[in-house]
Amino acid sequence: MKSIAIIGAGVAGMAAAVRLRKEGYSVDVYEANTYTGGKLSELRLGDYRFDAGPSLFTMPQFVESLFLDAGKDIAPYFSYLKKDIVCEYFFDDGTEFTAYADLERYLEECEEKFGVERSKVKKYFSAAKKKYDLTAGLFLQRSLHRWDTYWRTDTLKAIAQLFSLDIFQTMDEVNRRFFSDKRLQQMFNRYATYNGSSPYLTPGIMTMIPHLEQHFGTFLPKGGMVSITKALHKLGEDLGVRYHLGSKVDKILVENGKAVGIEVGGKRITTEIVLSNMDVVPTYRHLLADSKAPEKTLAQERSSSALIFYWGIKGVFPQLNLHNIFFSHDYRREFQAIFKENRVSEDPTVYLNITSKDEPGDAPQGGENWFVMINVPGNKGQDWDSIVDQSRKNILKKISKSLGREVESLIEVESVLDPRTIESKTQSYQGSLYGAASNDSFSAFLRHPNAAASIANLYFCGGSVHPGGGIPLCMMSGKIASEWIAKDHPIHK
Ligand code: FAD
Repeated sequence: MKSIAIIGAGVAGMAAAVRLRKEGYSVDVYEANTYTGGKLSELRLGDYRFDAGPSLFTMPQFVESLFLDAGKDIAPYFSYLKKDIVCEYFFDDGTEFTAYADLERYLEECEEKFGVERSKVKKYFSAAKKKYDLTAGLFLQRSLHRWDTYWRTDTLKAIAQLFSLDIFQTMDEVNRRFFSDKRLQQMFNRYATYNGSSPYLTPGIMTMIPHLEQHFGTFLPKGGMVSITKALHKLGEDLGVRYHLGSKVDKILVENGKAVGIEVGGKRITTEIVLSNMDVVPTYRHLLADSKAPEKTLAQERSSSALIFYWGIKGVFPQLNLHNIFFSHDYRREFQAIFKENRVSEDPTVYLNITSKDEPGDAPQGGENWFVMINVPGNKGQDWDSIVDQSRKNILKKISKSLGREVESLIEVESVLDPRTIESKTQSYQGSLYGAASNDSFSAFLRHPNAAASIANLYFCGGSVHPGGGIPLCMMSGKIASEWIAKDHPIHK
């Protein structure tokens, strides 16, 4: 049986493990941590439970299709609920906006709060849908680095319509073209953060993201986001994937230009194929220190990172939902600080996630589990201790003012995650959330492919390679990498 060593048990690595095992390979996953999931893990503080990393679950069809392709019924492993309210928005001028999942209610709310005609918002969503329909097959579901991708009619159709994709305008320019209300522009600009980019730099094609959220909806897995990790891990084990936890890979063994195995704790393990789910930068820098690295690819600007406070709150806030946003006064300045000045704005937009709204067991009676996050630059040696202190004060002031209630005295338990700890816990270079940023029209083509160009039998999956970060794209990355492996190393040959 052909053997594969997978380095890292992030979502993409676990998804690839399932697919490759199903295909008939012998699959071993080596994970440095003593738990699987990488960024998608959980934290318990006293009687409070928190999802440690991702909190927004979109496009569950990619998890569903993994189970389908593995020939397993998903029900015993995983279930989720669809949210009626996508997000509660609190603007700096006091406007409160409820983003309903139902389009008609959403349009009504837009009309009422922003005075914008429904037809204008509808037109925006149709243009966004068109962008997704034209490009999903090209940019997301296949490798951009294999010639057969380009000789397809859907690819040629997308290329022919390049100008309607708004590739040469920024997201902010597109949003300003559609809407004159600054709050609406800010609300739609926010979607750039879904891949850790700036709306003032990322291309307008990214305006497809609000369509995905509005059209497919947002969801919460039963048991919290970590249930995705638990489900993928168990599915793999049930199919015969072997997990080696607490096993940090120190080296990828290369002989005559071919990956021939890995080294773990001084032990050589030979395999026919190596698949790295580890961030591509440390993979080259630490595991392939003697091989030539693709310097241009590795030098790409990284996506933003995050500063997160996990607060167990003694109190209940009926005006809040699962997802809540408290917008900054000056959005442009906030992104200027992150991407141009490598610092954190004194008035950051605050994202507040409360799973206990839907999973009451995540907090004690009369309490709520607050996951409070702001976008920050990657770790480039800033003085994070003082940034954390200052940001905590700024955040508390902002949300207490918006909610009309003092929050600090309600904090019962607390923990913090910053770019340094994201980096040390998951090896994500600079603590970036989504690998390379999409602050360029051609970022999609510059991302590292799912196979190494100069080392045979070495493949990649995960948020730092094609097609990018976020759970849905990582699920696709695992699929593209496993399809590539199956093509290069057919099991029956
Ligand atoms: P990772 O999660 O990066 O895991 C890589 C694994 O490799 C780790 O477990 C690591 O320990 C292991 N590893 C590294 N080096 C070695 C080694 N040498 N040997 C063995 N193992 C090694 N996405 C969303 O869809 N929605 C969200 O709301 C969202 N919010 C986010 C919030 C935060 C705070 C963070 C951090 C991320 C968020 N994301 C979100 C992004 C999403 O979490 C990631 O894109 C995705 O989980 C990355 O998965 P991955 O497969 O690339 O692996």
